[in-house]
Amino acid sequence: MTTIGKVFLIGAGPGDPGLITVKAKEALAGCDAVVYDRLVSLELVVTLPRRVKRYYAGKSAGKHSLKQSQINELLLKLAKEGHTIARLKGGDPFVFGRGGEEAVFLRGNGIDVEVIPGVTAGIAGLAYAGIPLTHRGKSAYAIFITAHEAPGKELSDLPWELLSGAEKGTIVGYMGVKTLPEVTERLIAGGMDEETPAAVIERGTLGNQSVIIGKLGNIALKAGEAGVKPPALFVIGEVVELRDSIIVEEDKPLAGKTIMVTRPGGQAAEIYHKLRKLGAEVLALPTIATEGYLDNEGWKRFERLRGGWLIFTSENGVKYFFQGFLREGGDFRRIAKFSIASIGAGTEKALKQYGFKTDFVPSKYTVNTLAEELTSEYEWKGVNAVRVRGNLGDDIIEAALEKAGAKVLPLEVYLTFTAEWDEGMRAAFAEAEIDAVTFSSGSTVAGLVEILGEAEFQCFIESTAVISIGPVTSDILRQAGGEPAIEAKVHTMEGVIDAVVEYFREDKE
Ligand code: SAH
Repeated sequence: MTTIGKVFLIGAGPGDPGLITVKAKEALAGCDAVVYDRLVSLELVVTLPRRVKRYYAGKSAGKHSLKQSQINELLLKLAKEGHTIARLKGGDPFVFGRGGEEAVFLRGNGIDVEVIPGVTAGIAGLAYAGIPLTHRGKSAYAIFITAHEAPGKELSDLPWELLSGAEKGTIVGYMGVKTLPEVTERLIAGGMDEETPAAVIERGTLGNQSVIIGKLGNIALKAGEAGVKPPALFVIGEVVELRDSIIVEEDKPLAGKTIMVTRPGGQAAEIYHKLRKLGAEVLALPTIATEGYLDNEGWKRFERLRGGWLIFTSENGVKYFFQGFLREGGDFRRIAKFSIASIGAGTEKALKQYGFKTDFVPSKYTVNTLAEELTSEYEWKGVNAVRVRGNLGDDIIEAALEKAGAKVLPLEVYLTFTAEWDEGMRAAFAEAEIDAVTFSSGSTVAGLVEILGEAEFQCFIESTAVISIGPVTSDILRQAGGEPAIEAKVHTMEGVIDAVVEYFREDKE
C-alpha cells in the first residue's frame, strides 16, 4: 500500500530567488516532485537534485498552458502516488495565485496540504522600486486589486467608488498591463485627481526590473510608450513620490543584462549569486547535469594501491572523487601517499577546498600537454597512475601513461548527461532577451547543441554574446560553428564572470 503524499503550497517570491523563505527552502529540500509556475525563478528549480521530478504548469513556449483543473488533477495524482510535492507559485500562493482553489480541491480529496506563504510582488516590487507601501501622512492603507480583464468579470467586480476616493491610501494593481488605460480613466471619472502620483513596475525584483513614474493622468500612456509587458504592477498614491528620497541608483556593471548560465544547476548557485550581485538578471538554463558514479571495481583496486599518482582534470573529478572516497570509508592519510597532477585553475581550487595541493600542473591547460609533460618529466615504469574521470572525455592521458610503462587505473567517479529542458525552461529561453551566454566547458556547448538542434543553436549563438571559459571550450564552440565574443583570462567561473563584466564594459564604451 502506498501512503498518500503531501502537498506543500509554497510561495516562491516575486522573481529574485533570494526572496524565498527559509521555511520554503526546507520544504523544497524534502520534496521529490515539484510543480512550478511561470513566474517562479528557474534558479529555484534547476538547483534541485536530479531525483526530483519536475512538472511545469505555466505557459509553454507555444503559449499553451495547463488549465487549473489539469493542474489540480496533476497534484492529486502525484499525491496519490505517495509523492511529497512542492507546488511552487510566484509571490504568495494566496494572493491572486489561485492557491486557494488548489488547497480546497486537494483537501476535498483528502490530501494533506501545508501552505508556506511567500513574498508577494505587490510588496517586494514596491520595496525594490523604493516605494513604501504605506507611509505616515501619505498613505494610511493599501488596497490590492487585480485588474485582469479576462474572463471578464474582475474589472466590474472592483469597488470603483471606494477606489476613486482612495486618495489617502495606496492602490496596487496586479495583472493590469492591458487594462491600465481603462482603470485610470475610471478612477479619474470617479473623481480621483489626475495629478496623483503613479508608477508601473515591470519585472519587479529581477535584474532587468524597470520602473516608470508618472501621474494617474499619464501613466497608462507612458507605460504604453515604454512597451511594458507582463509581469508588471501598477501603484497609485502619494507614496510613489517618496521613491526619489529612497532609491539610490547604483551603477552596477551588469544592470539590465540577462545572462544565461549553462553550467549544471547544482554547481552554479555561487555563480548565479555573483552575477545577480553585479546587477544581472540570471537565466539559469543548465545544458548538462552530472551525477556521482560508483565504480565498485575501480574503488576496490584503488583500495589496494599504496601510492602513485592521482590525476585530476576537472573540478567535478575532484568533487566526486572525494565524495566517493568518503562514502567508501576513506581515510585522508592514505591519499598522502600519492602525488597529485591536475589541469585547470578550477580543479586546483577544488583540491584546495579538500586541503590538497597539486604537485604538477602542465605549462598549458590541455590534456595533451599534461600527457606529454607528465611522461617526459617523470619515470613511470611500474608506477600506479589513477586517472580520475567522468564518463565523457578522452583517454589521451591514459594511453600516454600506459605507453610510458605506468600501471593505469581509470577511476570513473561521475557521469555527465545532457540536461533535459522541460516546458518551463523552453518557454523561458524563448521569451528572454539574452545578452550573453556563458559556457564553462566543452560539454556545456555540446549539451546546448543537442538540446536546441544544430540550426537553432546556430541562430542563437549568432544573436548573443558568447563567453567562453578558456581555449578548450572555445575550440569546441568553433567546431560547433560559433565564435566567442570573449574568452576568460583565468579559466575558472570567477574568470568567466570577470570576462562578462569586461565584455559589457567595452560594449558601453
Ligand atoms: N501570487 C503572485 C501574483 C500572481 S498574479 C504574487 O503574490 O505576487 C500575476 C501578477 O502578479 C502579474 O500579472 C503581475 O501583475 C504581478 N507580478 C508577479 N510577479 C511580478 C514581478 N516580478 N514584477 C511585477 N509584477 C509581478
